[in-house]
Amino acid sequence: MTFIDSHCHLTDPQFDRDREAVLERARAAGVAGFLVIGATGDFSHNQQAVALAQQHGDVFAVLGVHPHDAKTITPDTYARLRELAREPRVVGLGETGLDFYYDHSPREDQRLHFRTFIRLARELGVPLSMHVRDAYAEAAQTLRVEGEGEVHGVMHCFTGSAEEAKALLDLGLFLSFSGIVTFKSARALRAVVQTVPLDRLLIETDCPLLAPLPYRGKRNEPAYIVQVAQTVAEEKGLSLAEVAEATRRNTEALFRLSEACSTDQDR
Ligand SMILES: [Zn+2]
Ligand SMILES: [Zn+2]
Repeated sequence: MTFIDSHCHLTDPQFDRDREAVLERARAAGVAGFLVIGATGDFSHNQQAVALAQQHGDVFAVLGVHPHDAKTITPDTYARLRELAREPRVVGLGETGLDFYYDHSPREDQRLHFRTFIRLARELGVPLSMHVRDAYAEAAQTLRVEGEGEVHGVMHCFTGSAEEAKALLDLGLFLSFSGIVTFKSARALRAVVQTVPLDRLLIETDCPLLAPLPYRGKRNEPAYIVQVAQTVAEEKGLSLAEVAEATRRNTEALFRLSEACSTDQDR
């Protein structure tokens, strides 16, 4: 039984002191793949994500600029992203999207760059890791307008309602659940997990944030993906192994991980 953490921020400075030990602990817990999200504050994290992926056979990079930082994007940002996206072991773009809960960047900037990322993903033929908060209906509408069925990706750290989940599933997207599903207060979200087909479900830690129970409040790390999978398994009446295998296969298929491994030399 092996897991893939479909969304982790391993370049975060919180891992600077023990990054290798964090990876080792995760491997010991059964984590066989890590999708490292370069959208972690400063743009330089994208370069760090690529470097980390090229150092480790089980790490892959997803490149982007977080919607929180949309206001920092310039035309040069996209030029640098296009160049980096050609590097081996880059498997997707993100996280991008709309965060109308924090509004750290003006909504117009977020909207513009979400659309630009969708178009870039289509052009490059890669999936998107999307971050949306308090804006699922608008995000779904944007995806519909930009090319229904032609935008592939995952809504990471999904926390919406069953109706919002259905609208995104109808667009062909995957939904990813984080440690939030383990929180006592997340009864409604656990009910949503029950409605998501197993073949459209991903799991993630989003570390270093959102540590699942019993680690809530501590620094999160990919080894704790097991707690997320366990909760999903309980909600769906499945074994831990079934959830581990299905979510691993879904992540491999969406991000075409075997291709990224086999074409390291010529991409
Ligand atoms: Zn996010
Ligand atoms: Zn994230």
